[in-house]
Amino acid sequence: MHRSIAGTLRAVAIGSVAGLAMAVSAQADQRFITIGTGGVTGVYYPTGQNICRLVNRDRATHGMRCNAESTGGSVFNLNSIAAGEMDFGVAQSDWQHHAYHGTDRFEDQGANPDLRAVFSLHPEPFTVVVRGESDIESFDDIPGKRVNVGNPGSGQRGTVERLMAEYGWTMEDFSLASELPSREQGQALCDNRIDVILFTVGHPSAAIQEPIATCDARIVPVTGSVVDTLVEETPYYFHATIPAGMYPGQDTDVDTFGVGATLVTSTGTTENAVYHLTRAVFENFDTFQGMHPAFEVLSPEGMIEQGLSAPMHEGALRYYREAGMLSD
Ligand code: GLU
Repeated sequence: MHRSIAGTLRAVAIGSVAGLAMAVSAQADQRFITIGTGGVTGVYYPTGQNICRLVNRDRATHGMRCNAESTGGSVFNLNSIAAGEMDFGVAQSDWQHHAYHGTDRFEDQGANPDLRAVFSLHPEPFTVVVRGESDIESFDDIPGKRVNVGNPGSGQRGTVERLMAEYGWTMEDFSLASELPSREQGQALCDNRIDVILFTVGHPSAAIQEPIATCDARIVPVTGSVVDTLVEETPYYFHATIPAGMYPGQDTDVDTFGVGATLVTSTGTTENAVYHLTRAVFENFDTFQGMHPAFEVLSPEGMIEQGLSAPMHEGALRYYREAGMLSD
């Protein structure tokens, strides 16, 4: 009898201590933050690494350690954030839009109202790469070919499917639709295992540089009325050009369409964590911009205006107001 009362009291005491600990840790700063990126030869991976490098430099101020992981890409990152498995992720603006609104490939799982934007990053032209001797001159020529449509979870896989639907094509229209991750597609193209790489990526990137250097690969255009309609009808697609001289031997501009890379998080990430990450990037903006040639076109104003469909996270807003970048 006595023992059971004591046991009950102990249980109550332990329960309330645990409750207190949970309440404290929910408010305390996050010690570790993770950023989901993409394949190691893309631009997302070095982007995440560079952001973490800047965050970790200020560790004495905020006590956080930032780690950027290679992942399957945009859609994987958005799903991991929704599941609470990652704090931040890089994601294409089209998939940020659809994840927040629960549309397109996010229709089954529904809208994620907790998704938050932090800032936008570099433009990502939809890039079609073929071998040097190929007879493919534009995206319109790819039916009947062996095409790498991208791994499930990548942003380009979704964008490819969206574009194919607009063209009225299915996977059956290709003699092979492979699902290689971005880091493997250059080698597969040069080994003549596929004829076409489709990749939504910032430029320059190692993923495109490799096949150009190894097997004289070329970038071909994606233009015409289907693309014009797509750009007109959606807020997150725009006309884009891969400028001449971006890669060795590429001496003409290549017209296509593109999306913007963005950094996203969720309401579950603390205000302080988002504030300190945002601050680390903008207080060191010149250093950040110098960390990757794809960042050359970035401006702080553009980064808080373009390609963001989810609301801004409170922690990012706090920094933008404090820095005078936003007035309200
Ligand atoms: N846009 C690609 C994706 O969402 C990744 C590009 C990169 O790795 O830089 O999967």
